[in-house]
Amino acid sequence: MATAAPIAIMGFQLESNSHSPECQPSEFFQLSGDDLLADIASPAPRAPRELTAFMAEAKTLGLTPAPLASATAGASGRIGQDFIDGWMAAAVARLRDLGPVAGVYLCQHGAAISTGSEDPDGDFYALVRAVVGPEVPIVVTLDPHANVSAKMLSNIDAIIAYHTNPHVDQQERGREAAHLMARLVAGQKTEIKLAKLPMIPPSISQVTKGGPLGEHIAYGQSFLDDDEVMAVCTCSGFSLGDNTKAGMSVAVTVVEGAGTKAQTIADTIAQRIWDERNRYDITMTALEDAVAMAKALDDPAQPPLCFADVADNPGSGGRGNTTYILKAFLDAGVSDAILAPFFDAPLALQAASLGVGARFTATFNSAETQEFSQPLTAEVEVLALGGGVQTGRRGMYAGRSFDLGTAAVLRCDGIRIVVTEKRIQFLDPLMLECLGMRMQDTRALIVKSRGHFRAAVDEAFADAQIIEVDVPGLATPMLHRITFTQTPRPIYPLDRDMTWSATEAH
Ligand SMILES: [Zn+2]
Repeated sequence: MATAAPIAIMGFQLESNSHSPECQPSEFFQLSGDDLLADIASPAPRAPRELTAFMAEAKTLGLTPAPLASATAGASGRIGQDFIDGWMAAAVARLRDLGPVAGVYLCQHGAAISTGSEDPDGDFYALVRAVVGPEVPIVVTLDPHANVSAKMLSNIDAIIAYHTNPHVDQQERGREAAHLMARLVAGQKTEIKLAKLPMIPPSISQVTKGGPLGEHIAYGQSFLDDDEVMAVCTCSGFSLGDNTKAGMSVAVTVVEGAGTKAQTIADTIAQRIWDERNRYDITMTALEDAVAMAKALDDPAQPPLCFADVADNPGSGGRGNTTYILKAFLDAGVSDAILAPFFDAPLALQAASLGVGARFTATFNSAETQEFSQPLTAEVEVLALGGGVQTGRRGMYAGRSFDLGTAAVLRCDGIRIVVTEKRIQFLDPLMLECLGMRMQDTRALIVKSRGHFRAAVDEAFADAQIIEVDVPGLATPMLHRITFTQTPRPIYPLDRDMTWSATEAH
């Protein structure tokens, strides 16, 4: 039986790297009202997968979902206050216009920073709470890279985050959120308790398959029951979001009255993570060693390798255009490699205007001013043109569409470079296939991605064939090289000798 009042659905998703250039409003893909409904109903929506899954599951549970507004930007720098204030005001106005609601589902990332606030998530949840009042349930889903604050939790009723990294379980979490919402709409009241760890694990330590985070998230889920413990939200946090709410967290949602139990569970999980913090330490491959490995691929007996430029991951605020690996491989005469994608809108458009077969002197990063994005000039040939909006087939974008903008394949000696108009990390084999290439057709695949590429390249590269290369960039996981000014100290791994106890922390 459908509830009389609707479930409002809203959300914005941005992961802010404090050191990246300010996020531009044009980086947000915005949908609202009828446009959002049409997108959700399309074969390959661009709206977040947890949002579309929540919508479908809520209907099967007899709820009446009402999608109002969604804005997604991936990772970038801080967002301007005027823009985010305007978006939130418009979303809240839609919520008011909807009239009485039975609940609100907020589809968020959780690591946004704006130019005037370090906690736009918390600001938004408070605005929503002010509109709907204390009795209407608010359920939130997050990316596990969220930096969770007390303000966020004080304005909501239940919270969950993806369990996987690469993030491939958004739809399951969307369905889980719908079930939580159904319990809350039926009258269940809740409490949320938080354990915040003084810990910012480096990004590449957080791959859940075979890593400590996967075990720790699973450990958290082991506390769920059908009675009191409704949700356990373990967030590794976004280490490059330098602000006072930085850090891993465990947030436990329980039925009203079980708050003491929730705090004990949160502390227990947090303490186990802390006790095993050394498992989040990382090592990477030096560039000169990566070059030697790439050169060794001239021997056909060697299995192909995937080199990950993790420090230039657009999905962590990198610009997707540093040339350290490209230049080193060109200088060394690496005979067969593909680099994808390289973000350079002017260069992609120039190649498109010249056409397939054209040869010209390309200047990479002619318009970019970021310190790590150095210009590089090379003679190239345009091998292929394409791009545009594609529907993903594997990994995080499976069944969801993404936009490369104009894309060109430029060949420079033995290296084919996919240059794109849009800044995007390597997330799907289609990013090559739409340009007439395959991952399997090269000895060395170089990707601009921190870890999500793993869910896409697994068709061609086993984990042992993936090399994380240590070169400079805005998204470097080598945190000791970064200046932190807002992150609470001491914090691990910056302050390795510190001590901490979950129960003594509050
Ligand atoms: Zn994430």
